[in-house]
Amino acid sequence: MRSSAESQSLFEKAQQWIPGGVNSPVRAFRAVGGNPFFAVRASRATVWDADGNEYIDYVGTWGPAILGHAPGVVVEAVQKAAEHGTSFGIPNPLEVRMAELVVNAVPSVEKVRMCNSGTEATMSAIRLARGFTKRNKIIKFEGCYHGHVDSLLVKAGSGALTLGQPDSAGVPAEFTSQTIVLPFNDVESVRGAFAEHGRDIAGIILEPVPANAGLYLPRGGYLEFLRDITAEHDSLLIFDEVMTGFRLSLAGAQGHFGITPDMSCFGKIIGGGLPVGAFGGRAEIMDCLAPDGPVYQAGTLSGNPLAMAAGVAVLEALVDGSVYKKIEALGQTLSDGLAKAAAAAGVSVQLQRIGSMSCCYFADAPVYNMTDAMQSDRDRFAKYFQGMLEEGVYIAPSQFEAGFISAAHDEAAIEKTVAAATKVMKTI
Ligand SMILES: *Cc1c(COP(=O)(O)O)cnc(C)c1O
Repeated sequence: MRSSAESQSLFEKAQQWIPGGVNSPVRAFRAVGGNPFFAVRASRATVWDADGNEYIDYVGTWGPAILGHAPGVVVEAVQKAAEHGTSFGIPNPLEVRMAELVVNAVPSVEKVRMCNSGTEATMSAIRLARGFTKRNKIIKFEGCYHGHVDSLLVKAGSGALTLGQPDSAGVPAEFTSQTIVLPFNDVESVRGAFAEHGRDIAGIILEPVPANAGLYLPRGGYLEFLRDITAEHDSLLIFDEVMTGFRLSLAGAQGHFGITPDMSCFGKIIGGGLPVGAFGGRAEIMDCLAPDGPVYQAGTLSGNPLAMAAGVAVLEALVDGSVYKKIEALGQTLSDGLAKAAAAAGVSVQLQRIGSMSCCYFADAPVYNMTDAMQSDRDRFAKYFQGMLEEGVYIAPSQFEAGFISAAHDEAAIEKTVAAATKVMKTI
């Protein structure tokens, strides 16, 4: 058994002073049982806990760590920036460099505004979509998570789904009354919504590859359909690429699938592990933001020099595309290995993968939406999670999260992971 005395003692104190002992709900391990470990150090593909245990990490701080933990270029950039001041509240050159990198990488983005989290990015994007179109209704999909924005916290996947609370207390019904929630990958329901409310729909917001209820892919033609129907109705297509941005390609999921949304939201990777979000799109839309336009949006720490330095260092390392080739190949090797491990143990799984993102559902049928995802065997997942942790492999503590491979993973780490899975699958 792993030793855990130090993490246990920290968690006891944490529960006294922090609600649930954590600053974000999924970290509490409620879906898999037991208590969380406390991380004290992370480097490359490895995390160390307060008791000295080490884990091969497939959570990657929930997506940002595409270069692995604490890459030299990021650490150096942050140190250098810190020496010059941790926050100015005055424009700084790193903001300009960041915007240039994003606009050059993502063709649909002509202008971009930085903020401090993915939640802020989606919240601001839908406000802007409403301000630009002068319409109120927003379509979102079941199982898509767009941060904890009041009006989007309906059937929102991720932590809310893990805790069995698809909707949150404290959100007045009025706040979600302009949100139309539809099943993902279903063309007819979208047609129906536009037939009924077409003139009132400001836009559709979606994760182009939903990765907050596990991971499932858009069916062929589905994203093209959403692009066409929004264009026909002068509604905006908003891609929430907080997870997929700079992950599936330099131009995110939109680059991978060849779709041009009107607006995009970013976070995670573009912050290089510091708190960052961003939203961008066509100049005509973005120019509706204050100070040029009537849609208000602001932030004391937006464009923070430390966060910009970290993000710029990561994006510059991604520009030549070699990282994507590497993590795609490792992703394939891992999925193949896990499929073999499951087959050898006679365990029914659905290995869903795109590039370096994957999810192993303990389910009998392929997953295309949240209802399918809910068919998975969560007790079996919990046993798998605990078994893998004992073997020194850390995967997200919920069936409804995706896993990530970084450029710091290597064949040896994948082999070790597959060996662990081969052992653990036989016991669950
Ligand atoms: C993580 C995530 C968010 C929220 O980002 P935060 O930085 O946690 O606020 C929004 N959308 C998607 C798709 C995400 O994965």
